Amino acid sequence: MSRRREPRVIEADVCVIGAGAGGAVTAAELAEGGASVVVLEQGPRHDADRFSARPLDMLARLYRDGGQTTTLGTPPILLPLGRGLGGTTLVNSGTCFRTPPAVLERWQREFGLEALTDDALDPCFARVEAALSISEVTPELAGRNAAVARRGAEALGWSHGFLRRNARGCVGSGVCAFGCPTSAKQHVGITYVPRAEAAGAQVISGADVRHVLVERGVARGVEARLASGGRLEVRAPTVIVACGTIHTPLLLARSGLGRASGELGRNLALHPATGAFALMDEVVDMAKGVPQSFYVDEFASEGIMFEGVAGPPSYVAMSLPLSGTRHAAAMASYRNLAMFGLMVSDRSRGSVRALAGRPVIRYELVEEDVVRFRRGLRRMEELFRAAGAREVYLGLPGGVSPERAPARDLKLMAFHPLGTARADARAEHGVVDGDLQLHGAQGVYVADGSVVPSSLGVNPQLTIMALATRLAYGLLGRAVPRTHEEAHVLSD
Ligand SMILES: Cc1cc2nc3c(=O)[nH]c(=O)nc-3n(C[C@H](O)[C@H](O)[C@H](O)COP(=O)(O)OP(=O)(O)OC[C@H]3O[C@@H](n4cnc5c(N)ncnc54)[C@H](O)[C@@H]3O)c2cc1C
Ligand code: SF4
Repeated sequence: MSRRREPRVIEADVCVIGAGAGGAVTAAELAEGGASVVVLEQGPRHDADRFSARPLDMLARLYRDGGQTTTLGTPPILLPLGRGLGGTTLVNSGTCFRTPPAVLERWQREFGLEALTDDALDPCFARVEAALSISEVTPELAGRNAAVARRGAEALGWSHGFLRRNARGCVGSGVCAFGCPTSAKQHVGITYVPRAEAAGAQVISGADVRHVLVERGVARGVEARLASGGRLEVRAPTVIVACGTIHTPLLLARSGLGRASGELGRNLALHPATGAFALMDEVVDMAKGVPQSFYVDEFASEGIMFEGVAGPPSYVAMSLPLSGTRHAAAMASYRNLAMFGLMVSDRSRGSVRALAGRPVIRYELVEEDVVRFRRGLRRMEELFRAAGAREVYLGLPGGVSPERAPARDLKLMAFHPLGTARADARAEHGVVDGDLQLHGAQGVYVADGSVVPSSLGVNPQLTIMALATRLAYGLLGRAVPRTHEEAHVLSD
């Protein structure tokens, strides 16, 4: 008779689950602050020397399920997620926005998150910005795809600018979403994770956390399955769940936690997005330059944001909304193609729950958001025409104008899932409180996109990292130093 092997046991002050934007930041800050930290990450440790820049190859290696996570609803939305040390920051575009002050004010009003003011978060933002070398892209590095959008925006008098990004020594190789081959992109897998390890944290990849352990309402640790097949138990009085917006509610639910308000797994916002192409007379060579380097925020108050997107020929061949000879002709003119993205700050809300251990994500686009896409697509066409486009490809079926496009005809992707364990000061309305502690479970915290209680209208990684920084310093009982140097001065 075979006996079940006893799990390996590790004791720590803090166990962090997930090594993405939220998890890596809390782990590094806590370890540097003197806590003994164990980080458990389901995915592997990736080595940039093996990054080939070939989209199909890298999708399979860096993304969960090869990047094929999809929502159920109308229209279905492709929702790619990263997996491994660095989480989704490893494959993201590097764009960094602080949380807009108007969004923070809304959180204070609607969710009782009164401590999350712009002033209070300022040192958290500043600290992450310094740690990730965040700076504005130069026009030269932005490349000619951005120049096309800039020309259009200037001709129309629309508000625009170059994006701020977490990159150092970027050479504009254009493949941020497929693993930066030069490690210029300062994702958390090469910044905060090594800092955590240098400060003594134990970082274990290939560790799939199955349960968070809570006894009499107090955190006791976690149980994980290791890639080797063994079992691991981490005993810790503080557990930080940072599995991302799709997987955090699944882990909490199977641990029997966070369900009292009925909000766990609900309130899923996505920032759904689409792209459009233009055939230009000039050579664009969109593969050269930073793919996401420029934005047009003229319509941000309506919930419509334009941001750059671009890719090598194999990526464009997959995304170009044409078929047959028209697709072949456009691809033959690849060097003259320009591309741009459109993102909607959504009012629609979806949900995530588990079926046979896997996430089922439901999300229906409400009419208000369909209208935003209609307006956004028409303006995208205007932008390209004002830039001198010969032809514009909006991704709608032949004969369907943007004004008449039904939800089912929109070709959408989403990159910013948020809100499924939302923060709300009131236990009956949220899953965590304003300090990100689970309502009803002392010592269990959540630090990832799932706590963000509403759409942001801008890319979320800096918001998630700033909240994670605030959480870490809250646990350490110290004020947040704006920079690394200041941290050392304060602790000397
Ligand atoms: C292609 C793409 C481009 C993007 N571009 C931008 C951008 O330019 N700017 C921006 O701000 N945002 C961007 N984003 C979004 C941004 O990267 C995410 O919002 C952010 O990384 C989310 O952080 P997180 O901590 O919530 O989760 P993640 O970073 O996804 O980390 C979660 C981690 O938890 C792990 N995990 C899950 N379950 C378990 C478990 N049971 N046990 C152990 N580990 C587990 C996962 O494997 C993963 O590594 C982009 C996203 C994509 C897909
Ligand atoms: S554009 Fe810059 S950050 Fe993106 S993959 Fe290339 S070198 Fe890395």
